[in-house]
Amino acid sequence: MTDYNWCHGPSCHTTETQSRVRGSKGNKVLRTIKIKANRYGNYQSGIWNHFCNQRCLMDYIQTHIQSIVAIAPRREPLETPIKDPVKDNTRYYNQWTIEKRT
Ligand SMILES: [Zn+2]
Repeated sequence: MTDYNWCHGPSCHTTETQSRVRGSKGNKVLRTIKIKANRYGNYQSGIWNHFCNQRCLMDYIQTHIQSIVAIAPRREPLETPIKDPVKDNTRYYNQWTIEKRT
C-alpha cells in the first residue's frame, strides 16, 4: 500500500475548505483531499485510508451502492440460533433476555 491515498468521495473536490485550495495565484483549484495511510492507527483503517470524512464515505456509498452490494449479495436472511427468550420484569428497557445457543 502507498503512503497516501486520494479521498474517494465523488464530490470531495467541490467542498469549499481552505485545506482543499491548491495551485498558484490566479490559477487556484479545490483539490480532492490527500489521505495519509493509517492516520488513525488501526482504527477502521480500511475505511479511513480512503475517505477524508463521513460525508465523502456516504457520498461514495450512495453513488456506488449497486456495485457494492453486488460484491457480496445477500439473497437470503441470516439467522442466529437462540434459546427461547425469557421475560425479565426487573428491567425497564430490553425486558426480554435473549441468549445465543451454542
Ligand atoms: Zn473527501
